[in-house]
Amino acid sequence: MGSDFEITVVAKDSIAANNQIDRAIAEIRRIEKLISSWDSTSQTSEINRNAGIKVVKVDKELYDLVERAIGISKLTDGAFDITYASMDRIWRFDGSMTQMPTTDSIEASVSKVGYENIVLNKKNQTVFLKLPGMKIGFGAIGKGYAADKAKLLLIKNGVSSGIINASGDMNTWGVRPNGEPWKVAITNPMNKNKAYGMLPITDGAVVTSGNYEKFVTLNNKRYSHIIDPRTGYPASGLISVTVFAPKAELADALATSVFVMGKEVGLSRINQLPKVECVIIDEKGTLFTSNHIKIDTL
Ligand code: ADP
Ligand code: MG
Repeated sequence: MGSDFEITVVAKDSIAANNQIDRAIAEIRRIEKLISSWDSTSQTSEINRNAGIKVVKVDKELYDLVERAIGISKLTDGAFDITYASMDRIWRFDGSMTQMPTTDSIEASVSKVGYENIVLNKKNQTVFLKLPGMKIGFGAIGKGYAADKAKLLLIKNGVSSGIINASGDMNTWGVRPNGEPWKVAITNPMNKNKAYGMLPITDGAVVTSGNYEKFVTLNNKRYSHIIDPRTGYPASGLISVTVFAPKAELADALATSVFVMGKEVGLSRINQLPKVECVIIDEKGTLFTSNHIKIDTL
């Protein structure tokens, strides 16, 4: 999935713990096989290959994920959009880019973007991308989904407490062996060795999207790897967005969305959602929070 997973479980001994962790890893690999757009044999790649050509029958699991992703697009007025993927030829965040793409190429890149052009058929369990060249990608939601599924599996197997850490995206359940809640630190993006504050989480996920890890600097302006599907330009203005939600999938998708929506729209949207909170740090290093969150700054 292009990122490291770290799994922590509370168990009676290390043999039992390792056995459970192996099962969780297998589950994450299984999901990667289904949703990866790098793997040409995945069902997701098959959907992409057949864009503008024909419908593709997929597993219910993938169908449902696409359906939920579209739901999040509607909730965020298109700030979140799995069809962003056709724009990835324009912007590269691996250091190889030295100049701004042309306005024309940016405009052309968004012509294949738009969740409205994903056609679902529930009865036949098919997905069809209407436009040739259209592509979907689960970069902003897949890690969260995989973490939720791994957690679910461990709970089913009787693991009472643990953490799935997907490169900093935390998904926890239960309490620590000493009875205390798991705690997460909000990192200060201006100084990675310093935390802004600590928050207890008992059963839920905390996901951060930030442009301090993957970005490109052009003409002294920092462009993040999160792209506004409506304009084709990378989102700017915020440095990090952390979302708390019962599920990692939702937290993951919303963190990306708030990044695109910006501070005002993002916060007002989050404030309308039950059990979802967020912490935003803008370019100047100023911290903003949703209505029901209290963090103890260190
Ligand atoms: P991170 O990889 O830092 O955890 P995110 O969860 O925010 O970040 O996901 C960013 C990834 O999501 C990008 O690398 C890209 O693959 C994809 N993406 C970029 N913009 C969007 C968007 N507007 N909607 C959906 N996915 C996006
Ligand atoms: Mg995300």
